[in-house]
Amino acid sequence: MKSLANAPTASATTLGPLPTSFGAAFFDAVVIGGGPAGATAALELAKAGYRTALIERGGRIKPCGGAIPPRLIQDFAIPRHLLKAEISSARMIAPSGRIVDMPIDNGFVGMVDRDEFDEFLRDRAAKAGAVRITGQFEALEDGHGGTRTIRLKAPSEINSPTGSHFAERIEARLVIGADGARSAVARQALPRQKPVPSVFAYHEIVASEGSSAEPAQGRAARCDVFYQGAISPDFYGWVFPHGETTSIGTGTAKKGYGLRKAVTDLRAASGYADAQTIRREGAPIPLKPLKRWDDGRNVVLAGDAAGVVAPASGEGIYYAMESARIVAEASIAFLATGKAEALKSARAKFMVDHGRIFMILGMLQSVWYRSDWLRERFVAICRDRDVQRLTWESYMHKRLSRASPAAHARILWQNIGHYLGWRPA
Ligand SMILES: Cc1cc2nc3c(=O)[nH]c(=O)nc-3n(C[C@H](O)[C@H](O)[C@H](O)COP(=O)(O)OP(=O)(O)OC[C@H]3O[C@@H](n4cnc5c(N)ncnc54)[C@H](O)[C@@H]3O)c2cc1C
Repeated sequence: MKSLANAPTASATTLGPLPTSFGAAFFDAVVIGGGPAGATAALELAKAGYRTALIERGGRIKPCGGAIPPRLIQDFAIPRHLLKAEISSARMIAPSGRIVDMPIDNGFVGMVDRDEFDEFLRDRAAKAGAVRITGQFEALEDGHGGTRTIRLKAPSEINSPTGSHFAERIEARLVIGADGARSAVARQALPRQKPVPSVFAYHEIVASEGSSAEPAQGRAARCDVFYQGAISPDFYGWVFPHGETTSIGTGTAKKGYGLRKAVTDLRAASGYADAQTIRREGAPIPLKPLKRWDDGRNVVLAGDAAGVVAPASGEGIYYAMESARIVAEASIAFLATGKAEALKSARAKFMVDHGRIFMILGMLQSVWYRSDWLRERFVAICRDRDVQRLTWESYMHKRLSRASPAAHARILWQNIGHYLGWRPA
């Protein structure tokens, strides 16, 4: 039988009627999951001229605080109109109630609403030639001649340039699993992987007006971050303004912890007890990259499915898009050569670029988030202007600052002093 795995591909610009193979719609690449990772991977593959499908089940807004750094806005050309707020400072709140303000000197953190943001990304991928499929991935099966068959839960609408079709099976040379935390694609294609550590995060979206705390303009450009054991025993709580709405949430790895009560307390402490509740929702956040992202044949993972969320901060949108861009590059090499080795290179490249920051943040979380005594000291360290500058620089621009060695040494010494209790909090 002729192998389809390395079959030549038509350019996206010459997409004719929907191609089929053994009765199933056929694509070079099928991306499962239309969040930031999936939409980015689909965009890159479609731009490279490959017949690409993007499958999204729809019907649910991804629970998310929506904070994105300038590096993401710039690298992924996010239009300013998608930013619901531009944040110019963070307020860290210690267990004692002590407040440390961390102003951002140059720039701002953007806040996006995920319903609008994700749809913008999916639409951009479709405009570049990706075919959108509204449906739920169910199973991955071996296809014909080395391809993969993707089985959907029910006949699903394929919006191809030649009109709508319905299909329950799709065949592809390559599958990208971008279906989020607890990925079904990862479970089926890479079944022997150990589950990665994760927190469960829960937030409530409330109307920004109606709060009894401060005038709205005082909060519109400021994030509040609560490092208090009563709000989270091992993560943090947040109040993120999004213009007309505000996300108030917290997370923990502890099973059975009362996240709803913690958010109720957080709302009361921030003056949002009586604000109108718009949505209540939660989801897991994986906090460690999976050991393998590819199955050695033709399936590869990106975003939360690959576990790429920064420890300590839970920042996942940038890393989802960045990992997807790298996975798309590796996929293009795979589609051009048929060599499965190309897919393996994606994780290695991501870890070279971001592994160090993940390691530092992992250490930070395991050292400072363990008790209120340590949290108090962690917030005290954040008073230091050099700490503030380094923190913002690594978050905003995704690079570890080359600050003066003297500043690094002083910060390290301060950390040790606080950790051992030599320095007062
Ligand atoms: C409460 C909370 C707050 C957060 N706050 C922030 C924050 O402020 N900033 C930040 O950077 N990160 C934040 N994160 C993390 C961030 O949301 C994720 O890391 C990011 O969304 C990962 O993107 P993704 O595309 O990999 O996965 P997702 O965004 O989860 O997208 C996966 C997509 O796949 C679809 N899908 C799943 N299964 C199937 C299936 N079987 N068939 C078809 N489609 C399917 C889903 O509908 C979804 O659209 C937060 C997470 C949570 C839970």
